[in-house]
This record gives sequence, structure tokens and C-alpha cells, in this order.
Amino acid sequence: MPDLSTDVRYIKGIGEQRAKSLQKLNIHTLQDLIAYFPRAYDDRSKICRIKDLQPGESACVEAMVAAQPTLSRVRKGLELVKLRAVDESGALDITFFNQVYMKDNLHPGETYTFFGKAEGIHQRKTMSNPIVEQNRMLTGRIVPVYPLTAGISQAMLARAIEQGLNACQDLLPDPLPLEVRRAHSLCDVGYAYRQIHFPGSEEQLEEARRRLVFEELFLLSVGMKKLRSRRDEFLCPPYQNTDITDFYRRLPFSLTSAQKRAVDDILRDLSSGRPMNRLVQGDVGSGKTMVAAAAIICAVRNGQQAALMAPTEILAEQHYRGLCPLLESMDVSCSLLTGAMPAKTRRSILEKLRTGETQVVIGTHALISPDVAYASLGLVVTDEQHRFGVNQRAALSAKGERPHLLVMSATPIPRTLALLIYGDLDVSVIDELPPGRQKIDTFAVNSSYRQRIYVFLRKEIEKGGQAYIICSMVEENDAVPDDRKAATEYSQMLQTQIFPDLHIACVHGRMKPKEKDKIMAAFAAGEIHILVSTTVVEVGVDVPNATVMVIEDADRFGLSQLHQLRGRVGRGQSKSFCILISDNRSEDSKARLSVMKQTGDGFKIAEADLHLRGPGDFLGQRQHGLPALKVANLRCDMALMKEAQQAAGELLEQDPELNAYPVTARQVQKLFDLNADTLN
Ligand code: ADP
Ligand code: MG
Repeated sequence: MPDLSTDVRYIKGIGEQRAKSLQKLNIHTLQDLIAYFPRAYDDRSKICRIKDLQPGESACVEAMVAAQPTLSRVRKGLELVKLRAVDESGALDITFFNQVYMKDNLHPGETYTFFGKAEGIHQRKTMSNPIVEQNRMLTGRIVPVYPLTAGISQAMLARAIEQGLNACQDLLPDPLPLEVRRAHSLCDVGYAYRQIHFPGSEEQLEEARRRLVFEELFLLSVGMKKLRSRRDEFLCPPYQNTDITDFYRRLPFSLTSAQKRAVDDILRDLSSGRPMNRLVQGDVGSGKTMVAAAAIICAVRNGQQAALMAPTEILAEQHYRGLCPLLESMDVSCSLLTGAMPAKTRRSILEKLRTGETQVVIGTHALISPDVAYASLGLVVTDEQHRFGVNQRAALSAKGERPHLLVMSATPIPRTLALLIYGDLDVSVIDELPPGRQKIDTFAVNSSYRQRIYVFLRKEIEKGGQAYIICSMVEENDAVPDDRKAATEYSQMLQTQIFPDLHIACVHGRMKPKEKDKIMAAFAAGEIHILVSTTVVEVGVDVPNATVMVIEDADRFGLSQLHQLRGRVGRGQSKSFCILISDNRSEDSKARLSVMKQTGDGFKIAEADLHLRGPGDFLGQRQHGLPALKVANLRCDMALMKEAQQAAGELLEQDPELNAYPVTARQVQKLFDLNADTLN
């Protein structure tokens, strides 16, 4: 008997070759297979009479094959199977190109469902290469559309999933306790899986979605709440020495009151006797680095080491250059550690970390690699936290005796969501910018302005500025969208046709981090005039000379993402501009882009985004270090989210260890995929 852990090759039609292709989609077992949810649906539920077929429109007809199909070889490499099918309203001429087997598969006198695009006029209706079935898997119903990979087709995957569901839909353990399902009117897990793949109707699809979204948010809430209650159990020596007035005195400016509040929160945590787990959230340019520096100084004063981790080498170097002089002027020894260093330098830094000679280390992921040992790591700061998952936070913690953790993020999250997304962290918000910042003038235009924009870019560059152009990546019918093409083609076009005399470069997500850093560094050094990029520049690289941000297809981005991108300019003395290009004329799109014109406040923008589009964008971006959510970003509303959070709280209150709910506990663990000791 097959079970959930049975290999996918169990499925009829899945052999070695296809199993290999499925592996690329992370499908290994029957469980993986049936948990591979559609990304969209195609409503083919309506069956049409042949007479009513509209040319150019796709539709299903149910018709009988009227006579033996004929095969003709038009020329080499082109074989046609033709047949006529009829229903009570008329006749349909069907042609299959290069599908010789259709000749023998379709039998005169039998009735099939055909789905395809109708062509032809009046009496002569035709269809080419329709999908043909007798059992209505892919016709006559709402049909799932899956992200694919080479060697796997929609039909093949749908048939495999159908078999998988038949074999083990009833074996799925339900992570939602019965009483929770009852209280919130949620269907059971097997039914939800069946309906999310092969919905009987729109209503049933909605029912399935609601249940699966609820499940995901519920498990996430439970996990976050457990993380939080877990960490309250650890103790550490409270910092005694938290007077950092000499640090304040050394700064060339005084901290804003929002910065001071954040520092006070941190100092309170550090002297509390429990490990700090704090998120400092502040818009781009709000001065988070100095807040981190205050925490670092305090850790060093209390005899411990501090590590500052940035998501890229270039950001790590930027921090090092910025902080090192300040730290050293206060007699704090400081090193840089990145993956790109020569082995010898690296060894010597590791040695200094091991002995404690280096008090502060700034670097990339290299800081958590297994060969890095610390004398007494007391504080870990991660910058631009959204690139670090909950898992990595945990890996870092494992380096010290539960070090204090400070996470800095420039992604504003609406307060209503913060509890879920940062459930395991305390939050300080820096809601004020240092005085004297210039507003970035923002324009929303359609593509008929493009030539004028190019002229404007040239002017800015002649004045000595630099520009970013962001092109969004086009989601192909593919599991992993490829952004390489969009960015490279666009930058080549600009280089050859528009700006042959300027230096144009491009970065995209498929590049190796080293290559990307090299180009970013050249841009920062002013050697590149225009940088064409997908959203990889989002993270906080500082290029004060960049004055223009152009965003193509701006309507495809979430508002918070647009805000992040816009924050790449306006970092220097010169007036900066952001131009949002979009040909989307929908009211929704216009409303969203006009929010960008109206305000530069990241929190207001995030609230507006939540209001206009729901929380999907926040949950789906995977920018918050959350575990990957599969369905919650498809469709969920705030009401459902509150329900799920509340249910999670109630369950934990009643049974903090989830002793009576082993399935729930296991699923939470799996969702977070953490070391057993982190959550249990
Ligand atoms: P972010 O929050 O984006 O990380 P940074 O810490 O990089 O911001 O700070 C942005 C700039 O503002 C830096 O050049 C920093 O020196 C400066 N800055 C920080 N705090 C203040 C302040 N209180 N007054 C004036 N300038 C400040
Ligand atoms: Mg920063």
C-alpha cells in the first residue's frame, strides 16, 4: 500500500526520467506531489455546443467522432491527423499536427470532450490540437495551472496529482485540531487538497483556499509564539555598564529622539538578564547604523564581542568603512570578515576572534560559517534583516551562549502585521528622519514618456549624477522566474540604441554574488552611469551620487518594494527623482502609484499597501525571514489572519507544549525547519 512517503515513481506514467524532472520542483514523494499546489486556474467548466463556438475563443465541446480519422503527410516533418466530430448542433473539423497516435486513439462513434481554440466561420468550425479526453481531467471543469519545469506538462502533472490524491488523500494528517476547525468552519485537510487541485466549483475552491490559508497562518503563529515563549526561559548575565554618554559625545550630530528611544530600549534589554531579541525598524536613512553602534559599544564595555552581519560583501565593507574609525577612536578593535578574503588574512582574523583580540567583527554570512569561533560572542546585529531567515538567526545564536540579537530592517511593516511577522521579536520603531533630508520628487507616467525620460537621464548624467533603471522580472510559465533576460536585453538596448557614449551595466539575480558586488562597487565608484537591474539593488547600498530611479512596469511591484527602491536615491546633496513607468490603466494601479507620489513615509505606504492589496505582498515576499508560505500569499484577508492568530493563542494557552496535538507540533517544526532545540 502506498503512503505519503512513497516515491513518486509509484505513479503510473512517472519513471526515472520524469521523477528526475519532478525533483527539480522539489517533488520526491507522494506527499510532495499532492502538496504541489496550482499557481492559477483555467475555468473550462462550461461545455459549449459546436454551433455556439466563437472564433478565437477557447472552449470545451462534447462531440462524437463521426468517421475514422485520416493521416496525411504533408511534407517531411509535418504529419496531420484530421477528423470530424459532431454534436446535435453541428460539425467540427479537428486537425492534430504531429500527433500521429491520435489516429488510433480516437474511435468513430465514441464521444469525447475537446478543449481548444475555435476558428472558422458559420458552418465550418475548426479546432487545432485540442485537448481530448473521455474522463474530463483537463476539460469540463476548473483546471489547475501548475508552475512547470522541462520534461513535465500540465496534463501529465495533473494526472499524476490526481492519482496521488486517490492513493493518499485520506492519509493526510490534519494539523488543524478538530475543535479549531469546528470553531472556524474549516473543511478537513483531504477535502481541501482535492479541491485546491481539482475544484468542483468556485465556491469549493474558495473553501479549500480559506482552510489552507488559515492552516498556514495558524501554524506560523503557533511557531512564532513558541519561539517567543522559549527564549524567555534563557538567562544571561545582565550588562552592568550601560553608560554610553562618551559615545554620544563623539558623534558629529545628536541622535534624533526616535533613535534615542531605540537605544534606550536596547540598553534596557541588555541589562535585563535575558537575551535581547529586538528588531529595529526604521525607514531608509533613519540612522539605524548609529543605533547598532550604540549596542555594539555597550557589549564591548561589558567584556563581550559583537558581530555585525550584512547580506552582501559590499554592504559589509560599507559598514566597516563607516564604523571602524568611530569604534577605533574609542579603543575598540574592529575587523572585517567576508568570503572574498585571501585565506591567510582570513586565518589571522579567525585567530583574533578566537582569542578575543578582535572585539567587533563586521562581515557577511561568513560570520556564521562553521569554522568561525568566538572568544565570547555577546551581541549579534543583522542588518537588512529581510535577507536572513529565522533559521539563520538561529544559526548565529548557536555561536555564542545565547548572544543578544539585534535585527535591523528598513522594510516598514504595518503594525497589524508586525505581530505575526516578527512574533518572536520585540520591536522598536524609528519613525523620524534626521533633519534636513530632501524630498525625492516622484512622477508616475506611462511609456509614451520614455523618450523624454531618456533625455532627462542624459541631462542628469551630464550634471554628474547617476541613474538606476529597474525592470521587473517577467514571470514565465516556469517554477523559477528568470530575470536575467529582462535586465540584459534592456541594458543592451540602452547601450546600443540610446546611450552609446555612456557606460551602462546590468545586474540580475542569476549572477554570482561576487560578480554582482563588483558591478555594484563600480557603480558606487562612479564608473557606471546607468545601472539596469532587477530588484537586487533593493538592499541598502549607498551611492550618494545616484539621483534618478526609473522603475519600469511599476505597477507590478508592491508599494513597499517601490519605496525601498526609491530609497536608493536621495542619499546625497543633490535633488533626486523617482520616475514610475506604467501602462496599467486600472483604478487600482493608479491609486497605488498615486500613494507613491503623495508620501515618502514608509509606514504610511505600507499601511496603504495593506489596505489596497491585503497582506499577501507582505507575506509573500519572503523578505521578513519568515518560513515560505505557499498559499497565504495567494489570497487572504486581515479578518482571517486575526482569526488564525487568535486560534493559535488559545491553543497554546490550553496546551503550551502541544502534547495533545502531535500533528500540529510536527507541522510547526517542519514549517520552521529549525533545529529541534530551537523550538522544542
Ligand atoms: P539607515 O537607517 O538607512 O541604515 P544610516 O544609518 O545609513 O541609515 O544613516 C544614514 C545617514 O544619516 C548616515 O550618513 C548617517 O551618518 C546619518 N545620520 C544618522 N543619524 C543621524 C542624525 N541623528 N543626525 C544627522 N545625520 C544622521
Ligand atoms: Mg542601513
